[in-house]
Amino acid sequence: MNVANHRDHSELKPSHAMMAVMDDIRLVRSLAYVNGKWITGERFLAVENPSNNDVIGYVTQLNQAQISEAIDAAEQAFQSWRTLQADERADYLLRWHDLILTAREDLARLMVMEQGKTIAEARGEVDYGASFIRWFAEEGRRSYGETIPSHIPDAQLLTFREPVGVAALITPWNFPNAMVTRKAAAALAAGCTVLIKPASETPFSALALAELAERAGIPAGVVNVITGSGALVSEVLCQSETVKALSFTGSTRVGKHLLRSAAATVKKCSMELGGNAPFIMLEDMDVSAAAKAAVAAKFQTSGQDCLAANRIFVPRQSYALFLEAFAAQMRQLEVGDGFDPSVSLGPLINRAAVSKAHALVQDALAKGARLIAGYDELHLGPNFFAPTLLADVTPAMDVYREENFCPVAGVLPYDDLAEVIRMSNATEYGLAAYVYGHDIRRIWQCLRGLEFGMVSVNSVKMTGHPIPFGGVKQSGLGREGSRYGLDEFSEIKYGCLGAL
Ligand code: NAD
Repeated sequence: MNVANHRDHSELKPSHAMMAVMDDIRLVRSLAYVNGKWITGERFLAVENPSNNDVIGYVTQLNQAQISEAIDAAEQAFQSWRTLQADERADYLLRWHDLILTAREDLARLMVMEQGKTIAEARGEVDYGASFIRWFAEEGRRSYGETIPSHIPDAQLLTFREPVGVAALITPWNFPNAMVTRKAAAALAAGCTVLIKPASETPFSALALAELAERAGIPAGVVNVITGSGALVSEVLCQSETVKALSFTGSTRVGKHLLRSAAATVKKCSMELGGNAPFIMLEDMDVSAAAKAAVAAKFQTSGQDCLAANRIFVPRQSYALFLEAFAAQMRQLEVGDGFDPSVSLGPLINRAAVSKAHALVQDALAKGARLIAGYDELHLGPNFFAPTLLADVTPAMDVYREENFCPVAGVLPYDDLAEVIRMSNATEYGLAAYVYGHDIRRIWQCLRGLEFGMVSVNSVKMTGHPIPFGGVKQSGLGREGSRYGLDEFSEIKYGCLGAL
């Protein structure tokens, strides 16, 4: 990615291609949003369209002093935001929600430009992202405390929920809109103020959300978007004593690093990290339905999804038929630019992701996997990778062991369900697992036996505002969405009224 040091703003306009797709070009912001103002950092970073590597715009990079100023602004705003009535915070959130849905098409186009996903996926993400704002606007009104039967004579024991304080929200590039709203909505509803650090590959979605937050009238300093180097911004946020909560979505490697940094100030941390999802077809499942579901669970967002089916286990007697059905379904997927309505897979995020995908396939083939379909040369551009089906993958292969984050599907046969559950669990990850079948005893065996935060039976739809989203083991800490989402941004305060 190029770094532009120039300060001449005329050069920092969005590209013609970006201007051509947007109805409201004011949603494309190059500056950071701090304390209700759009501010310029020391330099600008070019953002590229993964579909063709064209620069689509530039985004400012804040320095250490500016990040610290943003933290102070969020702390000042917290003092009044926390004292608003829950209803008032809900009203702000609902106005933000409505403006997001009004700008749905532009927000979706922005995501296709900076992330590469298809326009249909991008529209779905805007709706999904907005749904958290509406949900938490309501949940914030029901953030109840309790009275506790007292063990102290004549005393009343109570709990209150109080906001943690300033919250740092660090988000990845694969869902540039919804990862921001899923965190910010919960934090704001709980009464926290937020410092959002979007991924450098996809900053425009977060900045557009800030523009809409400003239009919704959310007070200055309550929502801040600080763009800059991931390492620098995160370090300043983690070291700050003022920042009380850290909510991170990204790789397990960076998550562990941030947990170590945040330990110095004992922040309340929630982590949504990587996954290595098993997809288990049971013996009584219809083969073509299972293959269709597995294709859907594998190739969303071109496989760059923490929920993507990474290891597909198929009963041996159905194995050959399943591979055939999966390959047939997969061949129907069209790869190309996300704006083309016939396309179901966009590009990968960058060349490094494509190189990693090649390395995974080569490693698997060298260790005995069979290439069943795909791995075609596409001639679409350097970031495109054809959906690929590998059979006979084994735990010795990187494609099985690692979160592969690309459109490469690895399938293997099995004879014994208990052994599949054991193999599924033999990973440091524990985010999501899929099970397809009908026998209730076997489904129950999977539901209880799989060591994952989320197990979905006969449904690929794993997420949504009412669902407690999150992992166990090294896939993370805490839950987003659902009624538990507020917990990450609130503290339970105990109060005792002794004999009065
Ligand atoms: P990443 O860890 O490279 O970056 C995530 C964020 O951390 C970015 O904003 C980045 O700028 C920032 N960052 C902070 N400190 C950094 C440092 N020292 N070095 C580099 N970046 C730093 O993750 P990514 O590549 O943006 O996203 C992909 C990962 O996110 C995958 O592992 C995926 O599974 C995970 N993810 C998890 C969920 C979930 O809910 N569990 C959802 C989406 C993505």
